[in-house]
Amino acid sequence: MNALIYNGIPGQKLVTKIPIPEIIEETDVIVKLSSTTICGSDLHIIKGDLSEMNNSNNTRVLGHEGIGYIQKIGNLIENFEIGDKVLISCITSCGKCIYCLKNLQSHCINGGWKLGHTINGTQAQYVRIPHANHSLYNIEGFNGIIEDESLLMLSDILPTGYEIGTINGHIKNNDIVAIIGAGSIGISTLICLKTFYNPKSIILIDYNESRLKFAQDEFDTDIITINLGKITNIKDEIFKITSNINNLDSKRINLNQGVDVAIECVGVPESFNTCQEIIAPGGRIANIGVHGVKIDLQLQKLWDKNIEISTGLVNTYSILDLLNKIDGNFLNPLKLITHHFKFDEILKAYEIFENSEREKCIKVFIEFDND
Ligand SMILES: [Zn+2]
Ligand SMILES: [Zn+2]
Repeated sequence: MNALIYNGIPGQKLVTKIPIPEIIEETDVIVKLSSTTICGSDLHIIKGDLSEMNNSNNTRVLGHEGIGYIQKIGNLIENFEIGDKVLISCITSCGKCIYCLKNLQSHCINGGWKLGHTINGTQAQYVRIPHANHSLYNIEGFNGIIEDESLLMLSDILPTGYEIGTINGHIKNNDIVAIIGAGSIGISTLICLKTFYNPKSIILIDYNESRLKFAQDEFDTDIITINLGKITNIKDEIFKITSNINNLDSKRINLNQGVDVAIECVGVPESFNTCQEIIAPGGRIANIGVHGVKIDLQLQKLWDKNIEISTGLVNTYSILDLLNKIDGNFLNPLKLITHHFKFDEILKAYEIFENSEREKCIKVFIEFDND
């Protein structure tokens, strides 16, 4: 079968032929993919940011998102039958260990982030899914009702925005919420925020004008956008905006204005620093971004602010909630998909996704041929 692999050498990825995976454990299933996509984490791996994967003796099929049809099942599979259409969670969970029982599936002792990381992933014609009873979702009943493009967003980015952004951020009614980063995770967070909560204002912060405009045009015309390239100081700008929203005198900066929740969706020091600068007393900083370098925590400024900081890798326990919201027309992630490709064009899809700002790309949909 054809697969997109990282060969352990930073900067290198290639399409190659490898054997179709087989059932290894009785809790495995083999899924024949019908669609997959590329995530920012795949780009981190290829850049060499995940040192454990930089081993040229250990090539890996990338990808942890996908939809497909069950082709083979192990003897201990209870929930699925051959031919079922399934959504693949980016997180593998056994459903039984201490972390799974705490809804911390990303730390599952027998699973966690395995696909496209410690085992072969979904950017191939077939994938082996371990612990399939708890790591797949049957979407047979949504066939022809919800577009596959929307369903695919449930593998990773929608639960990520919802669980690690808004749930961890403890959003309350009338909060002023800032989202730092208007890429796929930032926009996923935005649509979950609008679906599940009633914030007073949403402020979307990015350098890229076209992304800010895209979010405003396609998802929420009421959001306030800040282009970091067009202002001199983000703290002053936020304090001005929040003073205005809260009807306070903006000249009295000792009023400690700021946002109630700052959701970090980028993963670089500057964006986390922005969160530290703009958070109001009692606020919550929810970090989603994948960080590769050390960041200074400004505890000398924050210690008396009564804030919370949360971090996390998605657990995907919210997939069914999100699916029901899509099914009930309360949430529509379809417009996150800006580009379509066939699987044999996956290198082209990577090129577009790697240059997502230039290409005005949020998320790609990669379709497999039905042969
Ligand atoms: Zn991902
Ligand atoms: Zn577990």
